[in-house]
Amino acid sequence: MRRTAIALVAHDAKKDAMADFAAAHRLKLSACDLFATGTTGGRIMERCPELKVQRLKSGPLGGDQQIGALIAEGRVDVLIFFVDPLSPLPHDVDVKALTRLGLVYDIAMALNPVTAEMVLAATKPNRLS
Ligand code: PGA
Repeated sequence: MRRTAIALVAHDAKKDAMADFAAAHRLKLSACDLFATGTTGGRIMERCPELKVQRLKSGPLGGDQQIGALIAEGRVDVLIFFVDPLSPLPHDVDVKALTRLGLVYDIAMALNPVTAEMVLAATKPNRLS
């Protein structure tokens, strides 16, 4: 049995929402393996210092693609990605690539807080395989 791996990513306008989400679910998240893009991970750890988050590069510098690679390797079970639908992003193609890999590998994927609540509620800390 291995711990469930959750990847957390939030665009700038959604980072407060991600920090709130992590704080509200700190207990459950602490039982999972956590990955995050650089700035998102920093914000989560600032708010919840007890959470161990493996921080990757910042999204626009390749962090989204690093998470995509982890998904392709079967190392991410759940992607929680708070997307900002109202701002143009320089790394828009990476956003599309990341969500595409989430679909290709059929992982649980939440793109907004309300869905993230539902997905996390259905997530168990350990996977059977
Ligand atoms: P960040 O990356 O957490 O480093 O800001 C997120 C993103 O914009 O993809």
